[in-house]
Amino acid sequence: MAEITQPAEHPIEDLHQVVQRTIEDAVRVNALRSAESVINSHVQIAEHAYVVFTVKNQPIIERARQHFLQHGLSPLGRYGQWEYSSMAQVMRDGFAWAHEQKHAHEVVLD
Ligand SMILES: Cc1cc2nc3c(=O)[nH]c(=O)nc-3n(C[C@H](O)[C@H](O)[C@H](O)COP(=O)(O)OP(=O)(O)OC[C@H]3O[C@@H](n4cnc5c(N)ncnc54)[C@H](O)[C@@H]3O)c2cc1C
Repeated sequence: MAEITQPAEHPIEDLHQVVQRTIEDAVRVNALRSAESVINSHVQIAEHAYVVFTVKNQPIIERARQHFLQHGLSPLGRYGQWEYSSMAQVMRDGFAWAHEQKHAHEVVLD
């Protein structure tokens, strides 16, 4: 699988050319022995795949976070935290949040 990113504001390139360039580049870096070894290709476009950071982001994210928290919602994950996180990171944060909630709501019995 090859992942090719491009800015959302750019028009989508000709998909045939993208595939050709990807194969040529894979051969160039010795990831493929030859272009002929590719027997099929499939292109899937994932729009809005990544969060975008600008210098103005942080105060907006913090305001949104506080708004959600005040309403009893805990924003988590890549879009909840507006961060460039991996699957492992978002799962770790989800488990940590669940663990905290469990302890916060535990009834202490004498
Ligand atoms: C192209 C690409 C490649 C990646 N490759 C890797 C990789 O190799 N390794 C790695 O560790 N990470 C990779 N990641 C990152 C990984 O996918 C994310 O870190 C992870 O999926 C974030 O999990 P999440 O639960 O925060 O968000 P998501 O997985 O995006 O889950 C959010 C969910 O909320 C749903 N949703 C959104 N809006 C609503 C709504 N209004 N109502 C109900 N549901 C809604 C969405 O449909 C989605 O199912 C990649 C990401 C992309 C985009």
